[in-house]
Amino acid sequence: MELDLPPEPKTLVEAIRHFADPDVSLLTMVKLRWPNGVRCPTCGHANPRFIRTRSVWECRLKHVKRRFSAKTGTIFEDSPLPLDKWFTAIWLISNCKNGVSSYELHRAIGITQKSAWFMLHRIRLAMETGSIEKADGTAEADE
Ligand SMILES: [Zn+2]
Repeated sequence: MELDLPPEPKTLVEAIRHFADPDVSLLTMVKLRWPNGVRCPTCGHANPRFIRTRSVWECRLKHVKRRFSAKTGTIFEDSPLPLDKWFTAIWLISNCKNGVSSYELHRAIGITQKSAWFMLHRIRLAMETGSIEKADGTAEADE
């Protein structure tokens, strides 16, 4: 996890290619969520052990739910959509000044319109609250 991110994508095609690299998606997520280093979402302990083969961390303290992924406890957790689609969607929403419809998102990143609607809803909520951490009681069913 000592990689540096490649330069920010400037076009949608570049964004899709950029986030299609699993290391880039994971590192983007880490920098977004833990700008000061990865911490256990359950107990807050720093410096968990990274299990490279599974892309998960394990807290150094012994407790339940000590293994976690970058998605654990975030708005992405319950979604079967991979992180690269999420980040491409976030990129698109952040870079389209006139707004993005669920239909455009569905066409642009190759997901169903229902999934696109779900993503837009969650991303807008995260942008409003300034957090990707999942708030209690907001669990929604994805398809
Ligand atoms: Zn912990």
